[in-house]
Amino acid sequence: MDPFSRSVTIALADIQLQTALDRGTTRGVNARIGAMAETTDAAALRHQARLARERALNRLPDLLEQLERNVVANGGHVLWARDAAELNRVILELCQKHSVRRVTKGKSMVTEESELNHALEARGIEVTESDLGEYIIQLAGETPSHIVFPMLHKTKEATARLLHEKLGMPLTDRPEEMTRFVRNVMRRKYLEADMGISGVNFAIAETGTIATVENEGNNRLSTSTPPIHVAVMGVEKVIATWEDYAVLVQLLARSATGQRLSVYNNLMSGPRRPDEPDGPEVFYLVILDNGRSRILATEYAESLACIRCGACLNACPVYQNIGGHAYGWVYPGPIGSIVSPLLLGPTRAPKLPYASSLCGACQAACPVEIAIPDMLLKLRRDLVQAGDPTPGWRIGMKLWAIAFKSPTLYRLGGRLVGWLTRLLAGRKGYLRRLPPPFDGWTTSRDFPAFGAPSFRERYARRVHKT
Ligand code: SF4
Repeated sequence: MDPFSRSVTIALADIQLQTALDRGTTRGVNARIGAMAETTDAAALRHQARLARERALNRLPDLLEQLERNVVANGGHVLWARDAAELNRVILELCQKHSVRRVTKGKSMVTEESELNHALEARGIEVTESDLGEYIIQLAGETPSHIVFPMLHKTKEATARLLHEKLGMPLTDRPEEMTRFVRNVMRRKYLEADMGISGVNFAIAETGTIATVENEGNNRLSTSTPPIHVAVMGVEKVIATWEDYAVLVQLLARSATGQRLSVYNNLMSGPRRPDEPDGPEVFYLVILDNGRSRILATEYAESLACIRCGACLNACPVYQNIGGHAYGWVYPGPIGSIVSPLLLGPTRAPKLPYASSLCGACQAACPVEIAIPDMLLKLRRDLVQAGDPTPGWRIGMKLWAIAFKSPTLYRLGGRLVGWLTRLLAGRKGYLRRLPPPFDGWTTSRDFPAFGAPSFRERYARRVHKT
């Protein structure tokens, strides 16, 4: 069995995971639908957001240069990283330059992509995730399973046990008590940290401003309490104007958590000014490519419009059943099934484009109208063209295409298969096991014999009667 199928089998049998997924994704879907219903014209808002992202992607090189100029004008520094290894190297060099021993981190998918925590810890630097979910995942030695809710796979009961075992928290089933306990642990970490690292939700080119959204205030503390702030973003996070920000930020909150706006909307334009009471003394913006400019030049450029709201994950019937870890990398769900093969290369994630029923729930939920099912189909096409299917599969699909193009062959084939299945099923009316190569279908289900007369025959008789 291939690694993806194995992970899926394990996930489906995990009762605790199924409970957590059911609770988390249902809550996410309902919250988003409620929040979008409050807007006067949700379709127009989504379309505006889509145009904002298209404007940014169409002018990406120019906007990145404008962003750099303005960050520097604001007193910050801009560093560029071609790939994940270079990103880690750049941040390690900053740590060495500033003698950093302790780091607090706000939520950042890009640093998950580069496994920055491991790189820093390998050099003896203490890294503490400050987002509650990320911190719990870090304590558990796991990776996030959702773009927005990293611990969506964990129940509150499992979380309480973990905090009890790792930090000695008195056992409780009340989330607010767990939060209070972790908050007290974290406060000390912010005060001790030499550097705060954050992700970036949007980078506004016209003023060189970095925007992050959050609900816990942890990102604000991580970026303003330590003397050095390092913000890390993928190249696609840049947007042109504040008008675009105004549209995108409200859609991000509504789509991600069902809020009109997130509780904290942090806007950072460089380091602390002489007349400002707080904020970092030094500000760095590190901009990562890691294959994104390559994607921009392909028919998959649209995938870069993603604002990482997680709505497509919650809406996807596949994600709802298997959770994020089964996808095998940082980006799960429908958008992950596109982004992972594109960033990692098709051979590292060959099954992901098939992890979809193509029902379209992802596209319907997406605030920037990304045509996710179309891209999944194109990725499947690429895999076929690259020789992914077995020779048997190729021949089978060719025969299938011939039969479907000819009404006579289709009718005769239907009759033959119907007769065969009834013969093999006998009185039971169903087959327990299909012969290879179709036996995978009957591993966990029966195969009912075809009905007689067939639908086509009944339909023809009915039309004939009327
Ligand atoms: S593809 Fe759309 S719905 Fe999915 S995370 Fe990105 S913006 Fe959100």
